[in-house]
Amino acid sequence: MLDRIFVLLAATLLSLMSFTTLSSAHPAHYPLQTEFPDHMLYQGQIEGKMIALTFDDGPDQQYTPEILDILNEHKVKATFFLMGSRVVKHPDVTKRIVNEGHAIGNHTYWHPNLAEADIHQMEWEINHTNNQIYQATGKTTQWFRAPYGALNQQQVLSLGFLGYKGIGWSIDTEDWKGPGKKAITRQVINNVHPGAIILMHNAGHWTQDLSGTAESLDELIPLLKRNGYQFVTIPQMWQLNHHGQISSKQADERPLK
Ligand SMILES: [Zn+2]
Repeated sequence: MLDRIFVLLAATLLSLMSFTTLSSAHPAHYPLQTEFPDHMLYQGQIEGKMIALTFDDGPDQQYTPEILDILNEHKVKATFFLMGSRVVKHPDVTKRIVNEGHAIGNHTYWHPNLAEADIHQMEWEINHTNNQIYQATGKTTQWFRAPYGALNQQQVLSLGFLGYKGIGWSIDTEDWKGPGKKAITRQVINNVHPGAIILMHNAGHWTQDLSGTAESLDELIPLLKRNGYQFVTIPQMWQLNHHGQISSKQADERPLK
């Protein structure tokens, strides 16, 4: 009898634990956001159905223009985390992203794993990228996303010192694996929540097939809109999260250091 009670208890505990794991994103899942709320954002802690689409690793000539066309068609603004080495190669596409009203962020120059880099390398990656973005667009950015999301506490403090805010994500579409439009759409729809920051890619290695990303957007955006979701940029999500509203003043620029 005792054995049976124990089994029942264990089963209940297990189901409770898996429920906790599956429940929607919470700041406790993001220790850096909990520890450094003024420097890090993985998701907006907001009630309203606002979400942010973010695209990493661009720009390029292949997928970025296609994604920009689809965003235009659906009148959605997104945020692009750019690699300095690709901004140098594609200044026109970089300019187009800015001209069409999207927000931009810094995603390092060469995309190193910062967990294996020292602070000086990190600073070089960030400053060099910001200079290239400034040369291409006349704008600078205070938003930073680490390659692979790899950041430690020391690096977050350095980011703050350099005047940047670190941006993570709460929904990973894993689109870089080329799972196709259906899988990408399902991943977002099954996990979407108010304040979600969605990770996608608008460029990659030449062997990567990102065609599913653009295709999924065409399906995903109307579906999310029908469910009452509105799309905001990362600067807007930051303002919503910290001030409860989007002010008319643009918050996406910082002075060039
Ligand atoms: Zn990346």
